[in-house]
Amino acid sequence: MERVFNFSPGPAMLPVEVLEIAQRDMLSWGNSGMSVMEMSHRGKEFDSIIQKAESDLRTLLAIPGNYKVLFLQGGASTQFAMVPLNLMANYKKAHYVKTGLWAKKAIAEASRYGAVNVAASSEDKTFSYIPELKSEMFTPDADYVHITSNNTIYGTKFTDIPDVNGLPLVSDMSSCILSEVFDVKDYALIYAGAQKNIGPAGLTIVIIREDLVGKEMDITPTMLKYSIHTGEGSLYNTPPTYAIYIAGLVFDWLVKNGGVAAMEAKNRQKAAVLYDYLDHSAMFKPTVKGKDRSLMNIPFVTGNEELDKKFISEAAKKGLMGLKGHRSVGGMRASIYNAFPAEGVKSLVGFMKQFEAENA
Ligand code: PMP
Repeated sequence: MERVFNFSPGPAMLPVEVLEIAQRDMLSWGNSGMSVMEMSHRGKEFDSIIQKAESDLRTLLAIPGNYKVLFLQGGASTQFAMVPLNLMANYKKAHYVKTGLWAKKAIAEASRYGAVNVAASSEDKTFSYIPELKSEMFTPDADYVHITSNNTIYGTKFTDIPDVNGLPLVSDMSSCILSEVFDVKDYALIYAGAQKNIGPAGLTIVIIREDLVGKEMDITPTMLKYSIHTGEGSLYNTPPTYAIYIAGLVFDWLVKNGGVAAMEAKNRQKAAVLYDYLDHSAMFKPTVKGKDRSLMNIPFVTGNEELDKKFISEAAKKGLMGLKGHRSVGGMRASIYNAFPAEGVKSLVGFMKQFEAENA
């Protein structure tokens, strides 16, 4: 079976080179005589795997020494609770920017543990833009500010880092980590589910500034304390070993392919091909305009549900899969993460042109 172009929002495409190495290593990793799935998480083999994964991630993102890297479970959704439980230390209050469904879920979870001030929202226009933020919105009587850097469902992203009045800035980077160059130092905590730009589902990456560790509320379950995981090098309990191994292969692939700067250049080109067509098409309309456009998730609609359905079904027959948009936006969405090949975007645009001509 030939591989398809999978536009799924996540789990999403992985580099073929990575899958091939995993296939080669399936029965025996190196000379170990076992699959990584069968190894003790405390053995020397797995130790070398997790150490290299962390070291490559540190290189890729130039993570400063005063930040800890954690390989956790529970998805980004567990971070919605971990962040307030661990960081609402002084004021039991945080500012959140509501830019989509995931931000809403983060807000709902944080509200269980403290006060949440929704500093700004773009809900009035179906989250199709990033609201303008001013430092005055972030009053100093709060423990942190939370943003969602890239909004997977609505296809928007923060292009500028908000001025948060010196408060610790926390970001959900699930759908954009490693896709564009950014400075870790601008953030106090970054988290991301792995299944879009990093590797298999089941792994969550957290990058946390050391001074924020160890201030959790008393009620925090042990597994949800950052201090427990930083203290044990992500090995407090059995971590998602196979997912960490694949993530490590992806990091190695990224390092060998020019790192994040090279990915960003490719991602900009890929996104431009699709946006350029959408901006000129008489049939397909982008749902986001201007500078807030995501490089990773590109939603578009025809305005006619029947036509959308027909498009999605005919695209699938051509090996262009996973294009159905989220139910809250409708229409289509092309998710084109790091490992998504440029030929796939060209193929999609070629098919859209043909479909437009045939259905005009
Ligand atoms: N945040 C964002 C921005 C997401 O895109 C997603 C998943 N689509 C989540 C959080 C939830 O992640 P998980 O399924 O890993 O809990």
